[in-house]
Amino acid sequence: MTEQVVNTESQAAISKTTEKVNLLGMSQAKLEAFFESIGEKKFRATQVLKWIHQMGVDNFDEMTNISKALRTKLHQVAEVRAPEVIQQLDSADGTRKFLIRVSGGSAIETVLIPDGDRGTLCVSSQVGCSLDCSFCSTGKQGFNRDLTAAEIIGQVWIAAKSYGQFGEKRPRIITNVVMMGMGEPLLNFENVVDSMNLMMHDNCYGISKRRVTLSTSGVVPALDELGKHTDVCLAISLHAPNDELRNVLVPINKKYPIAMLLDSAKRYIDGLPDNHRKITIEYTLIRNLNDRPHHAYELAELLKDIPVKINLIPFNPFDQSDYERVSNNALKNFQDILIKAGFTTTIRTTRGDDIDAACGQLAGSVNDKTRRAARYKAKLGAEPALANVVSEEAVRILNP
Ligand code: SF4
Repeated sequence: MTEQVVNTESQAAISKTTEKVNLLGMSQAKLEAFFESIGEKKFRATQVLKWIHQMGVDNFDEMTNISKALRTKLHQVAEVRAPEVIQQLDSADGTRKFLIRVSGGSAIETVLIPDGDRGTLCVSSQVGCSLDCSFCSTGKQGFNRDLTAAEIIGQVWIAAKSYGQFGEKRPRIITNVVMMGMGEPLLNFENVVDSMNLMMHDNCYGISKRRVTLSTSGVVPALDELGKHTDVCLAISLHAPNDELRNVLVPINKKYPIAMLLDSAKRYIDGLPDNHRKITIEYTLIRNLNDRPHHAYELAELLKDIPVKINLIPFNPFDQSDYERVSNNALKNFQDILIKAGFTTTIRTTRGDDIDAACGQLAGSVNDKTRRAARYKAKLGAEPALANVVSEEAVRILNP
């Protein structure tokens, strides 16, 4: 099915040269199908992948192991087009934020967080988000649209370019990628999977599968599918130890409650070829809401038979929210209870405060597109749980 799409796209591009095919987000298989569709050999895909994702080249003229005739042909039908960086902000602590324009006039944010010899890039998957988690500033904007694969891998390309990572034997700055930026990655399944596979591909960025992490709020049917397509690490945005509380914080929980989500996560981890990986549990601590000792004990009980590590995230207050940051004492207490129960438990330190790059602040510049979200809600009909899941990909996944 995918190859057909590519063939159709590329043939359309040949006949209508104003609509060029963007090669940036294409997987190796799609790129091979593209070259075949224009009468070229499949091995060209490997050459072009390396030029784009290892050398950072976006101009066919610089792809010197490709004949001049093919380069001319490529100019006519294709392009390598990364999204445009509107603004780059550097924090005093080394965190770098890119404000990126995507087609349709919206903007997304991508953040690179350096930490010793490690550089973690936080990548967005959608413009806005439909899931409306009550503690999340992105959720407050409503949903606009899914990012294309070119716009997702384009965030890695842009960051790599900005750090001079491209080229032979250059030091690798981006060592880790987390799909934890704007949006729910599993509601933009194919584009996210293609992009993560490009991140790990030997002919592209070559990042280890143990260093690419997809974080989900719990779109269980898509999580059940994930293992057939990739083997990245998994993080679950849990934030509550019981359904009653999670229904408030993460509304998709009403559709896919905690037990169903954790079962699916276990199946994913158990299905990976290397069986030593742990699921990261993300737990945002909000003052007097989910930060009490009894919540920590309940969480420990809930997770006792699952291979997890727990990442505690102090809530980051923002304008449209009445929630408050957890106190340092409560945070430490919570962590101590979990550690005593035998869990590896870390606290996410806030980074990039001076450039609004900390988690929960990604987003400010994106317009509220709730009217579009409302249209999808109408399309999904009256089922209340589904009404919180409004992207087109969601319609496909939830109503196969
Ligand atoms: S936490 Fe994630 S899934 Fe929930 S609203 Fe924010 S971006 Fe969407």
